[in-house]
Amino acid sequence: MRRFPHQELRVDADRLIERMRALEAFGRNDAGGIDRVAFSDANIEALDWVAGHLGAAGFQVGIDLAGNLIARKAGRDASLPPLMFGSHIDSVPGGGNFDGQVGSMAALEVATRLAEAGHRTRHPLEVAIFSNEEGGKTGSRILAGEFLPFEVDVQTASGYTIGDGLRRLGGDPDRLVDARREPGSIAAFLELHIEQGAVMETDGIDIGLVEGIVGIMRWNVAVDGMTNHAGTTPMDRRQDAMVGAARFIDMVHRTARGMPGRQVATVGRLAAEPGVPNVIPGRVVLSLEIRDLSMDGIERVFEAVRARSDRIARDAGVTFAFQRFYTSRAAPTDPRIRDLFEASARELGLVSRRMPSGAGHDAQSIALLAPVGMIFVPSIGGISHSPEERTEDSDIVNGANVLLRTLLALDERGLTGD
Ligand SMILES: [Zn+2]
Repeated sequence: MRRFPHQELRVDADRLIERMRALEAFGRNDAGGIDRVAFSDANIEALDWVAGHLGAAGFQVGIDLAGNLIARKAGRDASLPPLMFGSHIDSVPGGGNFDGQVGSMAALEVATRLAEAGHRTRHPLEVAIFSNEEGGKTGSRILAGEFLPFEVDVQTASGYTIGDGLRRLGGDPDRLVDARREPGSIAAFLELHIEQGAVMETDGIDIGLVEGIVGIMRWNVAVDGMTNHAGTTPMDRRQDAMVGAARFIDMVHRTARGMPGRQVATVGRLAAEPGVPNVIPGRVVLSLEIRDLSMDGIERVFEAVRARSDRIARDAGVTFAFQRFYTSRAAPTDPRIRDLFEASARELGLVSRRMPSGAGHDAQSIALLAPVGMIFVPSIGGISHSPEERTEDSDIVNGANVLLRTLLALDERGLTGD
């Protein structure tokens, strides 16, 4: 492969880790984690702190209408759309110091290192710290035009509504339509994030090459039998909705496990009626959730579940009715960016593996506007959204170096390899 300038450039590991520690101070709680929920004072102070460092690196820093911190720097070729990279610095209540923060501090370090090295990219650069990721990916969804007007009135963990919260950050909830970005107006978006799972640590993977953010479909499943006396109804004359539900739950698990692929299926909620010890339940309503990297994959699992539920229905004398109530589209990452990430990791001597993301991320929204690429670094013990959340310093540095190298490769070669 052709070499590109600044191929030997590496992030300043000490500075990156120092800034990780410094950012932890904003919203630190007694449990050793952070309460830096979106729109809180700690969130705003942390954004100011990040803005100061980006400004010092020669970026023009501002808050867009959607409350996103956007830092821009011109490139050598003004006709090119910007390369965007970043993450989020808001946390869940009682969260940890790594979710979002690792990607944000890595992006800041990449921006700082490029400025320090005097490297002017071809593309304009944009560092993005998205608003209210943990409360529903507000900032990135506004950019993608996915945000619904009623959401401005939704109450958040900060005590403010999303609308008031956006105002506190410097956004304008009355002009969110103007905050949208046009599809094609961003050359590519890159995000580094912690895995929030334990696969990488268990299997000794340094860099997770995210193939996409899984789609989700959820159904309410009504199992109907017949309510009857639990003492006087012989066992062979029952239409027990709970028995149908029990067989259904086990079948869902076996079906998802038995099919090729990495789909997951879960029954997480169940309510029996009338729900008393001495009555055979006539109705059970349960939830069915299926996730996969492809929406077709979700449909395939669902069709298999439905076909098998017919058999259970006949055996148990019950009926199953499915009503879908939630869909979140899968967001595949761009295979060309994935290849660049993979090459960067290999050239840095790191072990990488392709993997899905079971959790949602800002990259999912930005995928509607631009090709996106995403990498993971390991989470110790797979713990996240907790003060116990940890990632090794060396893994953070590795991730930042892969981000830097891939950004430079993308800048030099473009996505078509021109
Ligand atoms: Zn996150």
